[in-house]
Amino acid sequence: ICRIGRVLRVQGLHSMVQLDDGVLRRCATRRILKTLATDQRHVVAAGDRVWVRPERADEGIIERVEPRHGILSRASRGRQHVLVTNVDQVIVVVSAAEPKLKPHLVDRYLVMADKNGIEPIICINKADLVDAADLQPLIGVYSQLGYRVLLVSAERGWNIDSLRRLLKDRQSAFAGQSGVGKSSLLNAVEPGLQLRVREVSSENEKGRHTTTTAELIPLAAGGFVFDTPGIRQFQLWDVIPQEVAGFFRDLRPYVSRCKYPNCSHNHEEPCAVKDAVADGFIDARRYESYLAMLDDEA
Ligand code: GDP
Ligand code: ZN
Repeated sequence: ICRIGRVLRVQGLHSMVQLDDGVLRRCATRRILKTLATDQRHVVAAGDRVWVRPERADEGIIERVEPRHGILSRASRGRQHVLVTNVDQVIVVVSAAEPKLKPHLVDRYLVMADKNGIEPIICINKADLVDAADLQPLIGVYSQLGYRVLLVSAERGWNIDSLRRLLKDRQSAFAGQSGVGKSSLLNAVEPGLQLRVREVSSENEKGRHTTTTAELIPLAAGGFVFDTPGIRQFQLWDVIPQEVAGFFRDLRPYVSRCKYPNCSHNHEEPCAVKDAVADGFIDARRYESYLAMLDDEA
């Protein structure tokens, strides 16, 4: 009789699966699944929902993988490799102080998340270092677009309860520049976490696995977070230029009103998007962000 669970990490030919009753089982994968896999390197990935046939005391066989959503992959040697799956939400962490908040970078993460069908949550950390009133205009722009914005301080523990509540019952990935406080936030949410993170790196030192391993970490308060160096860096940009405007929630309503079907909303005249910017319906800073993204992808 098979039981449902989720893959916490993949190590060589085996996966560590946490069944929904909480029990951990070290699992091999049924051979037939390997022939069906699209990503030949790994049949399963951290985050996968799998059906396991228990074997011996604490082992099992993965018989079936549930359809995936919210896949984050990384291009390597011309191929896409699945890093993690079933990411329900991405916590886009930025810093209110140092490193300086870069709205353009936030916009990139938002486009990235929307493209992958993952709900983004903007988490502004280091609130203890600034006057919250200064952040209101920025928070206003994103809130109006329907994004959830959370102002927190890992250092002081401000709003960590709200963050913990948002993480409950979901699989979340943290993204953001180095130094914004991702590790600090995770440690604030889950004080025991640091220990577990260290365990993984000591395995690395012994050379048991040389590649960076994605890991799904169960939280005491419920929910799971992904710990993956590859995701934190977020070199996952693969949106084509024509798509970009469609992932800007504020530009999207105007796109279809442009005179030219393939309008880039840059140099064309007339352009419904540019008119909306001129009339104040689209935030000028967001439009600049869009143009910068077009440039990068061209
Ligand atoms: P990561 O690279 O995103 O994982 O960032 P870290 O968690 O390593 O934090 C980078 C630096 O910012 C560390 O020196 C932290 O002590 C500091 N830091 C993190 N969160 C806060 C915060 O809420 N307030 C202040 N003042 N410093 C913070
Ligand atoms: Zn246009």
